[in-house]
Amino acid sequence: MKNMYNQLGISEAVCNYSDRMLNNLEERFKVIDEVAEYNQLKVIAAMQKNKVAEMHLSGTTGYGYNDDGRETLEHIYADIFETEDALVRPQITCGTHALNVALAANLRPGDELLSPVGKPYDTMDEIIGIRPSKGSLAEYGITYSQVDLLEDGSFDYNGIKNAINERTKLVTIQRSKGYATRPTLSVERIGELITFIKSVKPDVICMVDNCYGEFVEKIEPSQVGADMVVGSLIKNPGGGLAPCGGYIAGRKDCIEQCAYRLTSPGLGKEVGATLGVNRDFYQGLFLAPTVVAGALKGAIFAANAYEKAGFRCIPNATEERFDIIQAVELGTKEGLIAFCKGIQQASPVDSFVTPEPWAMPGYDSDVIMAAGAFISGSSIELSADGPIREPYAVYFQGGLTWYHAKLGIMMSMQKMYEKGLLKI
Ligand SMILES: *Cc1c(COP(=O)(O)O)cnc(C)c1O
Repeated sequence: MKNMYNQLGISEAVCNYSDRMLNNLEERFKVIDEVAEYNQLKVIAAMQKNKVAEMHLSGTTGYGYNDDGRETLEHIYADIFETEDALVRPQITCGTHALNVALAANLRPGDELLSPVGKPYDTMDEIIGIRPSKGSLAEYGITYSQVDLLEDGSFDYNGIKNAINERTKLVTIQRSKGYATRPTLSVERIGELITFIKSVKPDVICMVDNCYGEFVEKIEPSQVGADMVVGSLIKNPGGGLAPCGGYIAGRKDCIEQCAYRLTSPGLGKEVGATLGVNRDFYQGLFLAPTVVAGALKGAIFAANAYEKAGFRCIPNATEERFDIIQAVELGTKEGLIAFCKGIQQASPVDSFVTPEPWAMPGYDSDVIMAAGAFISGSSIELSADGPIREPYAVYFQGGLTWYHAKLGIMMSMQKMYEKGLLKI
């Protein structure tokens, strides 16, 4: 085994250090495997219940009428998320698009949108109109209010109660911390928040941005009261195989609005050709629980290896996980660059490419990104990025298999070790 690692460029020192770290992780990996097993059975049960057949795996063209594969997959998503209905489409470009469809479809001029968990993910700024943007909800006369989490990360129940008014129509709750510093919310905590919000205003629609959270736990936010859960198929539920797409699962009336917004009033769910993607959507969903487990193991391995070497990790080495994102504060520009070079060099695709920091539009400092993915931009595949500024934190996620995630992290350590930035 060590020979293989040596051939790939990993030194004896990094191999031995990794082995030591892994010795302590057996118990935690067992818990992850158990969740994966549970979710694997959940997915298979939903596929069997809906009588998936070979004909469902091929797609339609043109209008996409009578696309049994598409409709059956939407029933499967609804069963997995325990919702009345779902919209699972390649026409949904990405997570941001899915969120925009869910919001724009269910809000009307004069309504107010509330985020009770602080500022949402960056790309939501322009959907909402926090940053003025063409076509934003603000342009349609939909207002926005926000209640931040308290200092200790708990919900500001008083603030939330005061923020809910007669115009509050929809509440958006982001499960993952994304690239913010607050903790990721467990499904249980999301449930507590929704229960409280519904006690103040029963008819408010509670939507959860579920990105990076699917299959990390045994239950999903729709099982604790969320009216809609929204996500991207080039993250967790696509299992690395879905080439594009997004999903919205939820209450029938909410999903109906989403369908009319996504296609057209009058057409709704009845149209939308799946071309050739159905097989990948099905097979990706089938693989998703074990893919997510591999990504989680990678994140925990990294947190342990880097924390022991003196770097601050968020979440830390021992914390329970509710999403697949790991941040490591590397402290120096050289460290951040070396880390990303390691991730890139360990990739199955574009391993020979050297990532460099660049001035990415929309960011106030240079950003470095590493990804060698089969699907462009897929972040369920091993990928890392970070802004070139204090505290030089790298954010990384994914790995289609645990062994690839492990190699990527070992290679990142190797690059830092060679630069004298990692003492092991
Ligand atoms: C990735 C992500 C999004 C946006 O998804 P894209 O597919 O990148 O458009 C939204 N919210 C959260 C929490 C995310 O992690």
